[in-house]
Amino acid sequence: MRVHPVRLVLAWVLVWGTVAWGAAPGMGPRDCEGNTRFLVGAGLGDITGPAAEVGMMGYGQLSQQTAGLHQRLRSRAFVIVSPCNGRRVAIVSADLGMMFQAVKTQVVERLRARFGAVYSNDNVLLGATHTHSGPGGFSHHTLYNLTTFGFVPQNFEAIVSGIVTSIARAHSRLGEGTLRLEAGELVGASRNRSPEAYRLNPPAERARYAHDVDTRMTLLRLTRAQGGDVGLINWFAVHATSMGNDNHLISGDNKGLASYWFEKAHDKGDTFVAAFAQANAGDVTPNILGGTNGGGADDFEDTELSARKQHDFAARLWARATTPLVGGVDFRHTFVKMDAVDVAPEYADGRPRRTCPAAIGLSMLAGAEDGPGYGVEGASCAVIHDLWSQFTCALTTTPCQGEKPIVLEMGAMLPHPWSPDVLPLQLVTVGPLALVAVPFEVTTMAGRRLRRTVLERLSTRGITEAVIVGLANDYAGYVATREEYARQSYEGASTHFGPWTLAALQQGFDSLAVGMREGHPVPPGPLPTDLRFIQASLQPGVVYDDKLLWVSFGDVITDAKASYARGDSVKVTFWGAHPKNDLRLEGTYLRVQRKGSIGAWVDVADDGDWETRYRWERESCVPTLGCSHVTVEWHIPRDAAPGTYRILHEGEWKSGWDARVRPYYGASRVFTVK
Ligand SMILES: [Zn+2]
Repeated sequence: MRVHPVRLVLAWVLVWGTVAWGAAPGMGPRDCEGNTRFLVGAGLGDITGPAAEVGMMGYGQLSQQTAGLHQRLRSRAFVIVSPCNGRRVAIVSADLGMMFQAVKTQVVERLRARFGAVYSNDNVLLGATHTHSGPGGFSHHTLYNLTTFGFVPQNFEAIVSGIVTSIARAHSRLGEGTLRLEAGELVGASRNRSPEAYRLNPPAERARYAHDVDTRMTLLRLTRAQGGDVGLINWFAVHATSMGNDNHLISGDNKGLASYWFEKAHDKGDTFVAAFAQANAGDVTPNILGGTNGGGADDFEDTELSARKQHDFAARLWARATTPLVGGVDFRHTFVKMDAVDVAPEYADGRPRRTCPAAIGLSMLAGAEDGPGYGVEGASCAVIHDLWSQFTCALTTTPCQGEKPIVLEMGAMLPHPWSPDVLPLQLVTVGPLALVAVPFEVTTMAGRRLRRTVLERLSTRGITEAVIVGLANDYAGYVATREEYARQSYEGASTHFGPWTLAALQQGFDSLAVGMREGHPVPPGPLPTDLRFIQASLQPGVVYDDKLLWVSFGDVITDAKASYARGDSVKVTFWGAHPKNDLRLEGTYLRVQRKGSIGAWVDVADDGDWETRYRWERESCVPTLGCSHVTVEWHIPRDAAPGTYRILHEGEWKSGWDARVRPYYGASRVFTVK
C-alpha cells in the first residue's frame, strides 16, 4: 500500500495529538481512595542482539565488540490496571545500556497496531538497566552510534520486537491481583565515584543524608488475587558496570544476574518476572573498592558479588511486603525542547536562567573511573587545569555552558543534532508510589532534588514514596546539580544542556505533578523528529561462512574430557558460523544435556544461563578470513546431578553459492560428571 506523504504526516499528527491530549482526563490519585483491586500481568521478552562484531553500548570503546554471549538480555514488562479509574500503565525494565526514543516510538506504534489506543507514549514507561555489555547501534542519533559505525538494524529490531513481546505477554496475562510496596536501606552495595563533585553541594543539604549515594531500594510486589506470584520490580541506584570495558560477552551485568537468580528460584513456567531496575545512579558505581574493583577476582565475580547483594536484599523486602497497596494508577507525559528551556528564578539561583544547545565537555572523554578513557576528569574553565583545557575554554566554550570546556557541540550539528534535543518527561503514580521517569542518568543529589520537587507537590494527594527511573524513554547524557557541574567531573562534563539542566527538569516535573494533583492534562510539547528514514550503516553483514574443505559445520575441534568433577569447567570448540545469521531469539546457541533415566537427553542449561558461556572467534582459514570457531563453556555447578552429559552447539551458516542460511548442529562426546 502506498500512502501519500502529506496524508501520512496528517494521520501522524492526529494520532499523536489525540493520544497526548486524550490520555489525560481530569482525574487525580484520590479517585481511587481505598482501592486495593488491580489487574496485573508480567512478561519476559528476549532482546539479545548480535553476539559477534557489534560495538558494545556503554563504555564507548571502539575495541569493545561483541564476541559471544554470557547471558541473554531480557525485557521485563509489567502491566498494571486500576479499574477504579480505568487507567493502566506498562512499565518495562530492559537489559540495555540505555533507552532511546527511536525504540519507544516503534514499540508504541506496534502496540497500537495490536491493541488499539490502550497503550500510548504517555502510559508506556521504558527503562534501561544500564548494562554496559550489550550490543549498540539502536539509537537514531549519531553520537550514540559512533562505536558501531552507524545504525544496526538487526539489533534495533531484536530490541523493539522483544520489548513488544514482553508487554504483549504481560497484557495477555492480566488478572485480578494485589500490589505491595516495601522499601529499605541497602548499605555497602554502592559507592560514589565522583565524591569531589558531590562535596560541592551545600553542607546543609548533605547533612540531611547519611551517605553520598542513595541506599534505598524500593520494591513493588505483584501477586494474583487467587494466590500465586506474578513478580516484582525494584529500583536501586547502582551502575551496571561490574563487567569492565574489556569484556566482549553479552551480559545483563549485576542487575541482569540478580533478575535471573530471582526468576530461577521462583519460576513456575516462565511467567515469573523479577526486574532490578535502575534509579539515580549517575555517580554511583558497584565497584566499592574503587576504580574497577568490585571485590572479586575478576569481572564475573564482581558481577556475582553485586548481584548477590541486590538479590538478597530484594528477597528480604519481598518477604516483608505484606500490606496491600491502596490507590490507583495515573500518569502524565510531556516532551520538552531541553536546549531552550527558560528556567524560572525559583528553580534556579533566584535569577531567570536558560538551558543550552547540547554539548559535552573535555572530561567526558576521560570516562568515569569504572570505564577509564582518555585524559583526566575535572577539566574545567573555572580553574587553570592544563594547556589543552585552557585552549578549549578559550576557543569553544559558550557563556551558557559555564565551566564546561566544550569538545563537541552535538546540538549544533546539521542537518540534525547528534544527540536528542526534544526529550520526554514522564510521571507515573501507582498508589502512594511516584515514578519519576527521566531520559538521563541523574546523580545522587540531583535525583534527591527531583524527588523532593515531586513529593512536595503530591504529598497532599497521598504520594509518600518517589523513585527516579533512570535512562527512561530516551537518553541524553547525565544530569549533575549546579554545584557538581562546576567541578566538571565525568558526570558534569556529560550534562548536555548546561548548568541549569536539573533546574529545567525540576520545573518540568513540577508542572507534571501539579497537573496530576489538580486532575488536568498537561500540554504534549513538541514532537521529537523522527529520524528513522535517514539511518545509515557502515556495518557489513555476513558475506558468507567458510570452513576447511574436509570438515562440516558443527564438527568438534577440541572435545570434552571423559569425565569431570562438580565445580570443573567443560570447554568444547566447534567449527561454527556467524551468529548474525540468526539471533536465535527466545532460543539458544547451546545446550547442556543430561541423559535421563529412560535414556532420552534432557536440557539442563542453555545460553541464557549464568553457568554457560558461548564464545565466538573469527578464524583465518586460507584463502579466506571467514571461518568461525565457537567455544561452549559449561562451569559445572556444585549442585549438578551426577550423571552422563553432552554439549550441543546449534547455529546457522550462510552459503557463498546461493546466499542461503542453513541450520547446523554439533555435539561433544558424551562425558560423565561425578
Ligand atoms: Zn552511566
